[in-house]
Amino acid sequence: MIFLDYASATPVSKVAKKAMEPYFSEKFFNPSAPYLAAKRVRDDYEAAKADLAHIIGAKGDDLIITSGATEANSLAFSAASGEILVLETEHASVLKNSKNFDTKFIKVDQTGLINLEDFQEKLTKKTTFISVALANNELGTIQPLAEIAGIIKAERQRRLLEGNTLPLIFHSDASQAMSLVPISVARLGVDLLTINSAKVYGPKGVGALYQGHQVKLRPLAEGGGQEKGLRSGTENVPGLIGFAAAAREAKEHQNGARKNYEELRNILKSELEKSEIQPIFLGSKKHQLANFCPVCFPGVDAERVIYNLENDEIYLSTGAACAASKGEQSHVLKAIGLSDAEITGSLRISLGKDNTKEAMKVAGQKIVEAVKKELQFSR
Ligand code: PLP
Repeated sequence: MIFLDYASATPVSKVAKKAMEPYFSEKFFNPSAPYLAAKRVRDDYEAAKADLAHIIGAKGDDLIITSGATEANSLAFSAASGEILVLETEHASVLKNSKNFDTKFIKVDQTGLINLEDFQEKLTKKTTFISVALANNELGTIQPLAEIAGIIKAERQRRLLEGNTLPLIFHSDASQAMSLVPISVARLGVDLLTINSAKVYGPKGVGALYQGHQVKLRPLAEGGGQEKGLRSGTENVPGLIGFAAAAREAKEHQNGARKNYEELRNILKSELEKSEIQPIFLGSKKHQLANFCPVCFPGVDAERVIYNLENDEIYLSTGAACAASKGEQSHVLKAIGLSDAEITGSLRISLGKDNTKEAMKVAGQKIVEAVKKELQFSR
């Protein structure tokens, strides 16, 4: 098998799996129970939380552990009200939450990078909340969060002088970026940050929201008051332990992983380029996650290419897994100005830990074969 869809899911790393193991049966206690064995589990849970927080330059108390990035994004939106700004290429879990507000969408350029002029024009005295993902989940385009935060800071200062007390909160979804981009909440200038275990070789169904000290959130569900009352429900102890272990491992190998993916991506790209199928690589050359290689073959039915490749046990996708499964056209590819034929001909290739140089060559050749077959078919 050659798996080229790591943006949709990553296998749980051996280290994370081993770290989680004792918490399923042997140390199964509810961390809120009063006896010593349970208190030890509480200590382990809090230590893992502190560890995870440390990776993003925060403290354990700043994190609210959730059931994944969807929930973390939804919780982030509990801080929003009235007029908000959202990047037009955001994940469905941000876009759908934005429907409850007076939302303006910030435009991106052809590479998926935020249009800062459009952002500044749309930012008004009434804006309360801004959501821009650190890296996009279809293109891998990395946004200049610190620059955006600078603009937000200037607006806050203007408001201070004018006596405008409306909050202005900056949220970012770092689900895709966390394994490859060094993150410091202070340096990025965010007030809320979503992170996702499922994308860093940790277990699925676990995520977290970083909550800056000034930000007020409202719980999505009421109950036992866990996670500072913001996320009630018995803690997913093995989940958090696995997330923290995986995130730590990813952080330790970040530089090496980036270089490795760049090399692998170059091999794959040159296999595609040396054929006559004329690939158009999507996203930003300069600001792209190293494991992303989205590519377009206009006039080809990418879904049929995917089915063909599946016979060779090569797995990739056309876009975000949740949209692709519903047969919806990608709003991200539309936003960067692709035509219908270009969108239909687009593949999202995302690399990961188990990919090798040899596999890139094989995958490249097989993709070329499958695309050629489709080109003949469509003529
Ligand atoms: N945000 C981004 C950028 C994602 O890529 C994903 C998952 O694909 C999510 C949010 C949702 O994550 P989950 O399904 O783990 O809740």
